[in-house]
Amino acid sequence: MNSLWSDRDAQGLDGLAALVYTSRLIGADPNLVLWGGGNSSVKVTGKDHTGKPARILYIKGSGSDMRTITAQHFTPLRLDDLLPLMPRPSMTDEDMVAYQAKSTLEPAAPKPSIETLLHAFIPATHIYHTHADAICTLTDIPRSHEVIRDLYGDEIVVVPYSRPGFLLSKRTGDAVAAHPKARAVILDKHGLITWGDTAKAAYLDTVRYVTMAERYIQSKRPKPPRPSKSPARAATARHELAAAIAPVLRGEVSRNKPVILLYDDRPEVLEFLRTVDPAQLTGPFTPDHLLYTKPWPLMLDPRIAHDERAVLVALRKALERYRQHYVEYFTKHKTPGVTMGDPNPRIILIPGIGLFTTGKTRRETTIARDLSLHTMGVIQAASAMGGYRPLPARDLCDFEYWPMENYKLTLAPPERPLSRAIALITGAAGGIGRAIAERLLADGAVVVMTDVDLDATQKLADEYGRRFGEGHAVAIKMDVTDERSVRNAFREAALAFGGLDVFVSNAGIARCAPIERLSLADWNESVAVNATGHLLASQEAIRVMRAQAMGGSIVVISTKNVFAPGQDFGAYSASKAAQNQLAKIMAIEHARHGIRVNMVNPDGVFLHSGLWSPEIRAERAKAHGIPVEDVEEFYAKRNLLQTKILPSDVAEAVLFFASNRSSKTTGAVLPVDGGVKEAFPR
Ligand SMILES: [Zn+2]
Repeated sequence: MNSLWSDRDAQGLDGLAALVYTSRLIGADPNLVLWGGGNSSVKVTGKDHTGKPARILYIKGSGSDMRTITAQHFTPLRLDDLLPLMPRPSMTDEDMVAYQAKSTLEPAAPKPSIETLLHAFIPATHIYHTHADAICTLTDIPRSHEVIRDLYGDEIVVVPYSRPGFLLSKRTGDAVAAHPKARAVILDKHGLITWGDTAKAAYLDTVRYVTMAERYIQSKRPKPPRPSKSPARAATARHELAAAIAPVLRGEVSRNKPVILLYDDRPEVLEFLRTVDPAQLTGPFTPDHLLYTKPWPLMLDPRIAHDERAVLVALRKALERYRQHYVEYFTKHKTPGVTMGDPNPRIILIPGIGLFTTGKTRRETTIARDLSLHTMGVIQAASAMGGYRPLPARDLCDFEYWPMENYKLTLAPPERPLSRAIALITGAAGGIGRAIAERLLADGAVVVMTDVDLDATQKLADEYGRRFGEGHAVAIKMDVTDERSVRNAFREAALAFGGLDVFVSNAGIARCAPIERLSLADWNESVAVNATGHLLASQEAIRVMRAQAMGGSIVVISTKNVFAPGQDFGAYSASKAAQNQLAKIMAIEHARHGIRVNMVNPDGVFLHSGLWSPEIRAERAKAHGIPVEDVEEFYAKRNLLQTKILPSDVAEAVLFFASNRSSKTTGAVLPVDGGVKEAFPR
C-alpha cells in the first residue's frame, strides 16, 4: 500500500488535530478500514472541566467513520480513571461501558469505542487500529501464527481472538508489556494495531506492516488463471436474467421485513464466482462485518443451467436451506434469552450472474457490497495459502448477537413511513412527477424516476440524491408509448433496487382542438401516451409486483376531465377516460394479489407543468373566453375552495395511496381540484 502522509498537510498538527488528519488518511484506504471499521486514539495532557491538569485519552466514538471523521467524533476520557482497571481479572461489558461513561470529560461527546480500554492499556501516545485486508488474510489461513512469526519476527505480537471488550483490552495490554520489542499487535482473526510517539510514526508502521503482508501474499499467488472456457454471459443476457431474478429474490428475503437490493456484476465478482470453492464461504474476515453481512453468503451451485426457471427453482431451494442452516446455527450457539434475528441471507452470489446484497437502506446494501468485495479478495488470497479459515461459527454467533455491536444500529436515523419501499414514477421530470418523487423520498422511499427526457430527470435525481440520500433516486429513460422502452426501463429499475412496491403512472400529454378539426396524429398521440402508455407501464409493474409476491400499490394520475370534460379537450378527456377505466379493471383483477390501484384526479396544475404549454394555455383561454394571462387565476376561481392546485397537493394524495394508511382502499378516485362539483366522482 502507498503512504498518503504529507508533511506539508500535517505541518503544525499535534494532539487531536494530528489524530483527525491521520485517521482520515487511514479511512481513505478501503484496504485498511471500511464503513466505520477500525479506530484511533491519542493521549494528551490537558485540563479537565475544573481547570486542573489531566491526562486525556481521545478515542473514536462508536459508529463514526474514519473516512469522514472530525474532532467532534472523538471522545475525551480521563486516562487516570481508566488505567487502574488494568489489574482487574474481568469486567462485564455493561460495567465497562458505565465506567467509561463516568470517565468521559465531555458529556455531549459520542459513546466511546468499545475498544477504548485497549487504547488506554497500550502505553503509547498515538494508536491506530485497522482491519486491513492483507493482515486479516494472514490471520485467516492455516498455520497463520507461524506465517506471521516468520514474516515479522518479534516486531509483532499476536493476541488470540476474543470478542472486543475488557478481556481483549487486558490481554493486549499484557502482551505489549510482556514483549518490549513488539512494535505492533495483530489481533487474531480481527486486525492490526500500531502505535508511535507521533501520529506519523504510528501511521507509517501501519503502512509498513500492511505492505509486508501484501508482498508476502503476492509472492504466494498463483499465476493469473487461464481465461475462462465458459466466459461470463454477455452483459445484456446476464442483466436480463438478473432483472428477472431480482424481484423473486427480494420477495423471498423480505419475508421478515422488506429489504432493498443492490446488484453488482463487475468482472472481479464474476471471476470470483467462477473460481471460488463454495465451501470456503464460511464467514467474514473480521467479525465487524457481521452487522451487515450475516455469517455467510448464500451461493448458488455454479452448475445450474442459466435459464430463468432453473435459477429460480434453485434459488428458492437454496434460500430454504439457508434459513434452516441459520436456525440450526442460532439454536446451537445462541446465548440464553436472545431472540433470533432475520434468518435470510444478506449476500447472495449467483455464478455467471453476479452479487446481490440486501439491506433496509441503500447505504446498508452498499456497505454489504463493499464488505463482500473485500472479503472476496481475502478469500482468493487465502485460498492460495492453504485455504480460508475465518472465525468458527460459535464466535460468529457470539459476535452477531453481541448487544454492544448491535448498539451501532441504533445510531441510524429512525425509519420513515415509506422506508424499505421502492417506487417508480413515469413522467418524473414534469411538475407533478418531480413533486411526487420528492414527497415519496422525503418519507423514506427509494425512487426510480423515469421520463422521455433523461437529462432533465438525471439532474433532478442527482439533486434529490444530495437531499435525501446518495443513490436514493435514480433516473431511467422511458417512453411509455414504446413497448421495448418500457420493458427495458423496468428491467433497469429491477436492477437498481431489486423490485417495486409503488408504481405511479403519471406521464401524460394534452392536445387541444375541437373534434371536427382534431388531427388523427394528435388523437393517436393522446391515446398512445394517456391510455396505451398506462397499459404498457402498468403491465410491467404488475409483473414485477407479482414476481415479488409482496402486494403493491399502483397510483394512476387521472384528471378532473374524466368526470367533467371541457370543450376542445376531446383527445385528452377521451384518452384519460380510457386510462381511468383501465385502472378500475386493474383494481378488480389484482386485488387478489394484494395489489391496490387508485386514482388521483387533479385539475389545472400549472407549476413546472409540461402539459400546460403556452399553446395549451392559449387554447384553454380561448375555450373559456378569457385573456391568456388570466388562465391560472380562472382555474383557481372556478373551484369551491377558490384555490390554486400545486404539484405538492397532488403528491400528498399519491403519498396516501402509496402508503399503508390506505391499505383498505382500492379502485378509488381522490380529486385534488379544490372542489369542482361537476367533477365529483360518481
Ligand atoms: Zn476492530
